[in-house]
Amino acid sequence: MLVGPDKVREVLDAKLNSVEIVDVHTHLFPAEFTGMLLWGIDEILTYHYLIAEYFRYSELDYAEFFRLPKAKQAELIWQTLFVERSPVSEAQRGVLTILQRLGLDVGARSLEEYREYFRGRTLNEQIDTVFQLARVKEIVMTNDPFDPQEREYWKGETEVDPRFKSSLRIDPLLVNFPQAVQTLQGEGYGVSADFSGSSAAEVRRFLSDWVTKIDALYMAASLPPTFTVFDDSIQTRVLKECVLPVCREHNIPFAMMIGVKKLVNKELGLAGDSVGKAEIRVVEQLCTEYPENKFLVTMLSRENQHELAIAARKYRNLMVFGCWWFLNNPSLVEEITAMRLETLGLSFIPQHSDARVLEHLIYKWEHSKKIIGDVLAEKYGDILATGWQLTEDQVQKDVEELFQNNFYRFLRR
Ligand SMILES: [Zn+2]
Repeated sequence: MLVGPDKVREVLDAKLNSVEIVDVHTHLFPAEFTGMLLWGIDEILTYHYLIAEYFRYSELDYAEFFRLPKAKQAELIWQTLFVERSPVSEAQRGVLTILQRLGLDVGARSLEEYREYFRGRTLNEQIDTVFQLARVKEIVMTNDPFDPQEREYWKGETEVDPRFKSSLRIDPLLVNFPQAVQTLQGEGYGVSADFSGSSAAEVRRFLSDWVTKIDALYMAASLPPTFTVFDDSIQTRVLKECVLPVCREHNIPFAMMIGVKKLVNKELGLAGDSVGKAEIRVVEQLCTEYPENKFLVTMLSRENQHELAIAARKYRNLMVFGCWWFLNNPSLVEEITAMRLETLGLSFIPQHSDARVLEHLIYKWEHSKKIIGDVLAEKYGDILATGWQLTEDQVQKDVEELFQNNFYRFLRR
């Protein structure tokens, strides 16, 4: 059926509401990984985004705050960010959207009432409810073989909920090699701190074993703005001699999340990371030098977004994804999505949730879809004004490209 200019928004909203999302990067885990999946109101309130915002107003000593039990931390954040002032920041507003969609009374501002709701839920029920409300079909976890707790789960033969896909997160190999060496040695891989002898082969064996064990859809690392491949460091050698060859061998992308300045304020822990502009020529160099490798890339600095979109025009082995972390604000999602649609058409992955707490899926997707819909509706309006004809089926297909198929097609290439 043809869609006229006056119906575009309505049709697009219907398709956006029904599309089943593939969320390509989260920090969620299945219920089977007991204790690893964060969920519930106290976890929602102690999200590191909100901890950082809490300290804008609080005089409390950082260490003292982190020594408090989680419930007490949640109460302080609730009081400071939701009782004493209006919750207008994106992370604050996210909490309200979650409460609203779960059917709770946002106007009541009753933390106890919200806690009561969660006490009445089992984890499995809540996972189903949240996936349904967020219209999420599958999510990709961040699986860390350097985390002893997580390693234990993979050593068992636990059946994992099929909605939870894996990715192999390898940060220490590229940013803290001595730490990586300790773990690899402990697991029986013959790696030395100076990367000599059979080290490269053993790192490859470690990576290959893990990709196979967890059936990783891609390998990934979060990298600093200073990340470079124009040197002869151990980090560069590990990337070129181990990570990229193993990715090629298994035909999986290497996902680079570039631009995090770790622990700018150490006392804030996870909330203490910041952002820096990175070098796009590093991405260009890797795409040029390794045409047989596939790269999923997101960058944290707003200043990198235009050149990243342009780089993706030059390299078909580069897939841009998401508006990451400090960019996941409505005004920036709008700007970045428009820039990408105008330079890349529909050939990118507009968003990932980065959800750290289960219920984040609800607000991150609802807020993003609304803005991506606004931008896309405007583009449809512009082409319809030329006499172009649009059908409902085509709108559906376009939306499926953005929210599901671009990712899986890139994996299959
Ligand atoms: Zn993340």
